[in-house]
Amino acid sequence: MSMPSRDQISALLGEIQDPELHRGLNHLRMVRHIAIGGRGVTVLIALSAPGNRFESYFREVIPAKLRERFPAIEEVTVELTHMTEEERKAVVGSVRKEAPAQFDSADSPTQVIAVGSGKGGVGKSTTTVNLAASLAKLGHSVGLLDADVWGFSVPRMLGIHAQPTVIDDVVIPPEVFGIKVVSIGLFTDENNPVMWRGPMLHKALQQFLTDVHWDDPDYLLVDLPPGTGDIAMSIAQFLPGAGMVIVTTPQAAAEKVAARAGFMAEKTGLKVAGVVENMAYFRGDDGKVYHIFGEGGGELLANRLGVPLLGSIPIDPKLREFADWGAPIVLQAPDSEVAEALDTTAKELANIVPPKPRGPRRISLPLMPSAGA
Ligand code: ADP
Repeated sequence: MSMPSRDQISALLGEIQDPELHRGLNHLRMVRHIAIGGRGVTVLIALSAPGNRFESYFREVIPAKLRERFPAIEEVTVELTHMTEEERKAVVGSVRKEAPAQFDSADSPTQVIAVGSGKGGVGKSTTTVNLAASLAKLGHSVGLLDADVWGFSVPRMLGIHAQPTVIDDVVIPPEVFGIKVVSIGLFTDENNPVMWRGPMLHKALQQFLTDVHWDDPDYLLVDLPPGTGDIAMSIAQFLPGAGMVIVTTPQAAAEKVAARAGFMAEKTGLKVAGVVENMAYFRGDDGKVYHIFGEGGGELLANRLGVPLLGSIPIDPKLREFADWGAPIVLQAPDSEVAEALDTTAKELANIVPPKPRGPRRISLPLMPSAGA
């Protein structure tokens, strides 16, 4: 078994991606040196993010991949260093240029879908998180912006505790279950809430859309606060023509409030794509269905808004338990009735709002010589 050449090693390192910026290590100019001695290989990697969150990732992934591809290698030493401030700026700048998060531009490949409800407590956030996970499961790249600024619950439902990495005013969103997530909850202290007011909120939302490295996902779901308020209007202003899903419960009273949110959204330019009826029924151990919160509200709302009913989600205490535990039920218990209903809803949504066709990604030329040169 002969040892691989430096070029072969370099090519393999180029296939390994940075876990935050999702580009190959060569593309990000992270490979600084490759040395081959006997049956051992030493690589020097410059990390793009400040801090050492991903050190163990590189220390594990690089030796594993190298030894898997080139069994002749007996030992791999990974040395880590950090990029200088200037190098980091150049790298983040070039990656940002490849994927400018301008969701309102005609060539953005992202479908933005806001999820709203007439009132709180109908399961809007639970539904949003699970739809995001279902869409990711279907193979789509997904971003989730938690714009429910007063009642943010998305970080908890997805078990995110780490603060996002911020490089030169660019926020790199944490990614869990294939979903890139940004929430005001990631920046504020839960015990010390910020009093968000209109203009400040407007600005914060704008920054979440423009200063976050979303990296052109297929879908960006936006969890709106309940009601017909300012945030939906801000979103409509930043993202004219974005889609909207309205979550409601089956009782008639809830349907009326939800309809108001729907009509209001349409007035501001959001296009309602469909309705999700949550807590639609409960199935007892005997298999019998109980309509605890009434019946038919979802259908009624969909008819009134002239849009399809995307799905009806049953009541299941497991849905709350998994949300409290920090993992979407569609991933944790995919065969349960409630997960299947959520998956069907996500498929229906993807049928009605299909992902946009993608052109080739704009790749910028490296500014620095590549590894080992
Ligand atoms: P909203 O975002 O509309 O305020 P949440 O998603 O926070 O509502 O849900 C409110 C509560 O109801 C949460 O405790 C959640 O776990 C629970 N919940 C939501 N949908 C269901 C369901 N289909 N079955 C059981 N519990 C649910």
